[in-house]
Amino acid sequence: MNIRNIKLIVLLFAIVLSCSKDSESNSTVTEDEDGNLTEIDTSSNKKNVGDSSNDLLSSNSFEKLIIEILYVGDLNPTSATIDNFKEFLEAHLNKPQGIEIIQRQIVSPEQEVYSIKDIKDIEDANRQKFNNQKTIAVSGIFIDGEYDQNTANGSVLGVAYRNTSFVIFEETIRNFSSQPLAPSLATLESVVLSHEAGHLLGLVNAGSAMQTDHQDTEHGRHCTQEDCLMFWTAETGEGLLNMLTGGSVPSLDILCVNDLQANSGE
Ligand SMILES: [Zn+2]
Ligand SMILES: [Zn+2]
Repeated sequence: MNIRNIKLIVLLFAIVLSCSKDSESNSTVTEDEDGNLTEIDTSSNKKNVGDSSNDLLSSNSFEKLIIEILYVGDLNPTSATIDNFKEFLEAHLNKPQGIEIIQRQIVSPEQEVYSIKDIKDIEDANRQKFNNQKTIAVSGIFIDGEYDQNTANGSVLGVAYRNTSFVIFEETIRNFSSQPLAPSLATLESVVLSHEAGHLLGLVNAGSAMQTDHQDTEHGRHCTQEDCLMFWTAETGEGLLNMLTGGSVPSLDILCVNDLQANSGE
């Protein structure tokens, strides 16, 4: 083969590579247990928070939910956390074919701080589960480091950032759970996980329409009721420790439950 032909092949290869990179944002190739490769359209998993609230709550389009937890190092949730999370979801979602939670370790990007753009890139590089036929898929990343929007009094523990994606700042959660008199790690993880899921379910006023006015507009998509899981302090470490000093773990109040029920949830 002469130099000219080699150059041509290199050029063609480069074009193929760049084309596949362009299409990467809206499709991905997944492999099932039998090794079969399928190309899946991922665009329905890349919408805004709350856009899939009805798909998650009702069984109209999707009868099953699969949650893919991707964790860095040993930052996986406790098994008690997974049980609590599943219980929360089963209480509010209509999924006759069930709710499955799977976990997979991913390589740490080893950053000290992460922006949401960074988190989206990590999801795009690692996520394997997407909506497929009657199954809706959610991705949850348990990450090291901390959120780049943290302040001196506000350490963010979790963020819901796409219609079927959330991140848990697990290293930050563990720092809070190791403080004297702090609630258990499982309690902190369970509250934050359920809170972020609440945002994906369209709370508050973000996909599940408010049946009565209870949005704390000063704090965005949160609930005005202090004892509700969707109160804004549930997702910062400082706020959550305060919220839990009463002893009981917050659940959704009646106002939030009413919104979910009006959107085909429970
Ligand atoms: Zn929140
Ligand atoms: Zn509420």
